[in-house]
Amino acid sequence: MAEATSMAPVDSRRRRVALVPRLKDQGYAPDQVEKRRRWVEEKTGSRLEHVGATSLPTEEMRGNIENPIGAAQMPLAVAGPLLICGEHAEGTFYVPLATTEGALVRSYERGMVALTRSGGASARVWIDENRVAPVFFLEGVAEAHDFAARIRRHEDDLREAAESTTSHGRLLRVECLPVGREVIVSFCYSTGDAQGMNMIVKASHEACLWIQRHLGGPRYYIFSGYNSEKRASGSLLAGGKGKKVTAGARLPRKIVKSVLHSSPERLVDMWHHTVLGHMQAGALGYNGHYANGLTALFIACGQDVANVANAAVGITNLDLTPDGDLYASVTLPSLTVATVGGGTGLGTSHECLEMLGCAGGGHARKLAEIVAATVLAGELSMGGAIGSGEFVEAHELYGRNRPEAAGRKRAEETP
Ligand code: NAP
Repeated sequence: MAEATSMAPVDSRRRRVALVPRLKDQGYAPDQVEKRRRWVEEKTGSRLEHVGATSLPTEEMRGNIENPIGAAQMPLAVAGPLLICGEHAEGTFYVPLATTEGALVRSYERGMVALTRSGGASARVWIDENRVAPVFFLEGVAEAHDFAARIRRHEDDLREAAESTTSHGRLLRVECLPVGREVIVSFCYSTGDAQGMNMIVKASHEACLWIQRHLGGPRYYIFSGYNSEKRASGSLLAGGKGKKVTAGARLPRKIVKSVLHSSPERLVDMWHHTVLGHMQAGALGYNGHYANGLTALFIACGQDVANVANAAVGITNLDLTPDGDLYASVTLPSLTVATVGGGTGLGTSHECLEMLGCAGGGHARKLAEIVAATVLAGELSMGGAIGSGEFVEAHELYGRNRPEAAGRKRAEETP
């Protein structure tokens, strides 16, 4: 086998590294993708059989990826039934989850069964918007405050400029945050069924050009860091980056016992004590493992997986009801999900969205409610496993894949 050149030591005096070949028309045609893949195989001494075995039409990857060589495949599972009584998601759902973490699907499934047998999860979207926050540089504090006041007075002009670039995006409002002699200008949009970052960065760029032309031409950068796209921050808890969505359910004591192997009191006690751990860690919000369900659903449904960084900031709450049942809820203040644009139209992503009745325009809020109910199921099941002491046992049963064990198993199976 040829040696992997990517790992070879580099002689700093003779850096003759080969660039990935630039192919005809950016190289999205099937034969061009194969040509690039063969080049990588030769260069790295690898065999990319599975990478090449994709049914995704390679031409459709244009706009989603550059230098394509095939597809990374993930195992895909289904979890359910999940009964949801939402404003947009109404009925029983079977949720696609793409993951390699053993025990994850079984755990979410258990939570879904608990919710469904309890009469379902309520879900609601409270805020639905996305933001881009450029920063402008002024002479001093007084000029910065004057600039912020002028921005406020010209909101209609900024709306006209921004909305000239999109037929679906709507500028809801403009918020100014003076910091020293700089002003962060947060443009808040409704983005329809799209995640919207391409849409609203373009719209904000146009609004910034209007500001430059009409408000004294201050220097600016299109990103200030304030919008918390793909980053966790405290500002996300208030919402404004995607959908603020909540899901909650009352679980009768007997369901908590039979399905989650715990009691409402034990789960609330566990919640109380792990809140302290979160505080000690300086965590943003409180939750058991939103990132698990979000990542698996995002991969399955063609969402931008990097948005898990902002979407996983949220709050789980477990309460006792006066008659001794459990009330569980999740609040995801900054859930960025889409049913059009980005990767949502690609092969398996589109099919998974279809499984949920969420493919195409008009379904983003429905998807948000399904995601929140799924996340709630995961919180309940994990809480149950911790509360009952079954957490390690469950992972030993479903979630281990030690290389030596796998090797032994394969050897035993080899005739
Ligand atoms: P997009 O695929 O670039 O554009 C989606 C477009 O679909 C919208 O702009 C809209 O066009 C059109 N559309 C048709 N039906 C719609 C409907 N019902 N609702 C809303 N729009 C509809 O997707 P995007 O959502 O704007 O951007 C998401 C992508 O941006 C992700 O892949 C993400 O990774 C990437 N991203 C970009 C940046 C950035 O800074 N540019 C940052 C982070 C992520 P019109 O606007 O013409 O109406």
